Amino acid sequence: MTSTSIGNKGYFGEFGGSFVPPDLQEVMDYLEEQFLRFMDDPEFKEELNYYLKEYVGRENPLTFAHNLTKQLGGAKIYLKREDLNHTGAHKINNAIGQILLAKRMGAKRIIAETGAGQHGVATATACAMFGMECVIYMGKVDTERQALNVFRMELLGAKVVPVEKGQGRLKDAVDEALNDLVQNYKNTFYLLGSAVGPHPYPTMVKHFQAIISEESKRQILEKEGRLPTAVIACAGGGSNAIGAFAHYLDDQEVRLIGVEPEEAPTLSQGVPAVIHGFKCLTLLDEKGEPQPTFSIAAGLDYPGVGPEHSYLKVSGRAEYVTASGKEALDAFQLLSKTEGIIPALESSHAVAHAIKLAKQLSKDDVLIVNLSGRGDKDVEQVFHMLNK
Ligand SMILES: *Cc1c(COP(=O)(O)O)cnc(C)c1O
Repeated sequence: MTSTSIGNKGYFGEFGGSFVPPDLQEVMDYLEEQFLRFMDDPEFKEELNYYLKEYVGRENPLTFAHNLTKQLGGAKIYLKREDLNHTGAHKINNAIGQILLAKRMGAKRIIAETGAGQHGVATATACAMFGMECVIYMGKVDTERQALNVFRMELLGAKVVPVEKGQGRLKDAVDEALNDLVQNYKNTFYLLGSAVGPHPYPTMVKHFQAIISEESKRQILEKEGRLPTAVIACAGGGSNAIGAFAHYLDDQEVRLIGVEPEEAPTLSQGVPAVIHGFKCLTLLDEKGEPQPTFSIAAGLDYPGVGPEHSYLKVSGRAEYVTASGKEALDAFQLLSKTEGIIPALESSHAVAHAIKLAKQLSKDDVLIVNLSGRGDKDVEQVFHMLNK
């Protein structure tokens, strides 16, 4: 796997790095050291593989979407089934990886931020499994909008702390989690949910999500005897996309396509700036503050994006396109009807682009769509959107 940032202080070209106060930087330096120590340690890998298999349910299939392919009449579409993981999305891959590292580092307490609640639930799940104390910071506004996810985390034994400061949103939850970390770093591990934040997080999250493309590459070679024409994934912070791309980065003939919501086009329209402790392409308002975004998919509602995606965009190795909420909603319904698979609204953005692209390509082409999660969590929201 290409890892452009190790030994380079977390820089991908001009992006990434670590822009945090000195006391927090010390914590990041120690985390980097421990991650480098364990990432390729055979015992660590063996334990990680055990839980990925026995708990998460890997490897998950690369399913040929027969009916959808036939209906569109173009490229063959394969679906990488992260939706079949325990807890229904790719986030658990990273949560298990980081918690095993936390255990090695002697942490007794895990903290995390969450916006809509999906990362909070994945973290609370992993903490239940490993008997760790779990504290989830969540904006007050978000706890009210996502009351069921708060209850889910509590069922799993986590303590959810509503953050009233600022606007009571994700950004404020991140700030609180970082404050907690600075004060309690001796026994506390901050489990970050996407390929964002100060170094070493983007590199670490990529490392744990790269299992997606490690498997899909092996699977597509078995099924088709060739590499795919393109790999397509939705990009919020960018963790499922970087995991889906990782093992193809050096295969120049494979197109890598990240799909953003039209309502949060970070890579398509962003400018380089530092947010949340790292440099990336980001959407800023007139005052230079991160711009609020409004995607129908909560997991894609983030004004920044991982530094490696910013670099892949600028260097031209990956392409980034947008899909509208309407297109995602259509794709959500079409995949449900044709394949009997209800995708997450986030993943539906990737499906929407695959639908457009497959029609332009020939029957000899092969697409892999990363189905980052299942859509059960979105059914009620879609019900209201379709019935209004
Ligand atoms: C959280 C989430 C995303 C977005 O996060 P990334 O870090 O961009 O992958 C995408 N899909 C699903 C199902 C999610 O839960």
